[in-house]
Amino acid sequence: MPLYRPSELTAFLEKEGLHAKKALSQNFLIDGNLVKRILEDANVQEGDVILEIGPGPGVLTEALLEKNVDLYAVEKDHKFAKLLPRLTENKEGGRLTVFEEDALKFDLVSFEKSIKPKKAKLIANLPYNITTPILTHYVKAKDCFEKLVVMVQAEVADRITSKPSTKEYGSITVFLNFFSNPSFCFKVKKQSFIPAPSVDSAVIKLDLKDPPLTSVEEQEMFFQIVRGGFSQRRKMLRTSLKSLFPHVDWNQALISIGINELSRPENLSLQDFLNLYQSVKKEFPLP
Ligand code: SAM
Repeated sequence: MPLYRPSELTAFLEKEGLHAKKALSQNFLIDGNLVKRILEDANVQEGDVILEIGPGPGVLTEALLEKNVDLYAVEKDHKFAKLLPRLTENKEGGRLTVFEEDALKFDLVSFEKSIKPKKAKLIANLPYNITTPILTHYVKAKDCFEKLVVMVQAEVADRITSKPSTKEYGSITVFLNFFSNPSFCFKVKKQSFIPAPSVDSAVIKLDLKDPPLTSVEEQEMFFQIVRGGFSQRRKMLRTSLKSLFPHVDWNQALISIGINELSRPENLSLQDFLNLYQSVKKEFPLP
């Protein structure tokens, strides 16, 4: 009996003496249709290399192994990590390698070497307390991952996939669009988990791409402008940036790229921010 059935999951947790830990954002999926849709949206094929963050009891893990994939699972909770090998014992299906680790400290360099020349797909029902650090870390690893397909809080999904000039659009949107093409897959009700989280969720997909600026120094400078611009989002962009970089004539810089000088940060697309960066980089070198 698969783990996505509430009775099966509860029986498993009881048998092993396990309880969902809030500190590790443990909300377990109990909807087989959603598991199927996540695998479909990730286009999981036999032989794929998959990295799953936070497998927990293993509802997604089990479904992935049935697809005959090469699965690497990174789980911080010792009790869950040590129970995962049961999913491949005396069973045909994919290969499972478990790392009992913090996904934020997972060694991506070694992982990339071990799977080369293939690239992996990252699939996860993410621990919501570390959604942003996980995404900002893994989205940069385009030599390692083809795409990230992840369950996040609905409000975070809206922010990541939002368009300029909306209230959801912010520096995280620009950041993730810089390294990937994000898309919204589907919304998930809180009742689809045990225990139910306090908010609804959504699955999003980030197709990783070559970033428009390759040097790390340039990227840092660019994101200083983006973060600085959004630091006071009710203010005009030129006001926030002037207080951070007073030597630059932001009025003129905005006009030179064809943007109204009274614009607020949310009015600028990723390309507008890139144009602004190129314009100030040329004419007014940053400190
Ligand atoms: N995949 C399971 C499911 O969908 O039912 C569990 C998802 S639950 C939302 C998040 C999982 O991430 C938990 O198993 C939790 O122990 C694990 N986790 C939390 N913080 C982690 C971290 N820093 N590194 C790796 N795993 C973590």
